[in-house]
Amino acid sequence: MKLLIATHNLKKQAEMQRILSPLGFDVLTAEMAGVTLTDVEETGKTFRENAYLKAKSGCDETGLPCVADDSGLCVDALGGAPGVFSARFSGVHGNDDANIDKLLQELQTVPKGKRSAHFACAVCLCFPNGRVVEVEGRCSGRIGFERHGQGGFGYDPVFMVGEKSFAELTKEEKDRISHRGDALQKLAAALKQEEEKE
Ligand code: IMP
Repeated sequence: MKLLIATHNLKKQAEMQRILSPLGFDVLTAEMAGVTLTDVEETGKTFRENAYLKAKSGCDETGLPCVADDSGLCVDALGGAPGVFSARFSGVHGNDDANIDKLLQELQTVPKGKRSAHFACAVCLCFPNGRVVEVEGRCSGRIGFERHGQGGFGYDPVFMVGEKSFAELTKEEKDRISHRGDALQKLAAALKQEEEKE
């Protein structure tokens, strides 16, 4: 099945291609499909609403089945923040370094045992015939006291799973346990189940 990925984030794009391709999808970026996608304003109150807005817009614009994710970091000591505001936590959209600085600053006095957090990911797949498939994934961990590792993107250097940060894992290790990997595996399972019913 051909799927268009509706994201301008190259790192997310790569993760989605890496995870979906072995699951039997022919995954196209907008560039590969020769289309331009409008930047959708993320006005939803939940990850799910924003994923739908992005997938629906991409599908309407191109007439192709379109998959989008909306994801973020939820920190328990901050009442679930930054949540849907993860990309613009510091006030500047997509400034990973500034976002991490603000997070570490806000958690400065919070002890190790109270730094629990999770990444959440909503994935939505919209088909031109109006069919919509929605799934959600999650990965639990805690926020470190400083950055560790060079890989990944976003909050990866401060998101600790066991003794390692997401930025210290190989791509394959991250895909196996990440919120995005979890959601995309669920997407594949949901589509397979629907196919079997037809
Ligand atoms: P959006 O889904 O494009 O609205 O933005 C999600 C934001 O959440 C990104 O800018 C990152 O800051 C953060 N984020 C989402 N997934 C990950 C991940 O796998 N690692 C690190 N940060 C992530």
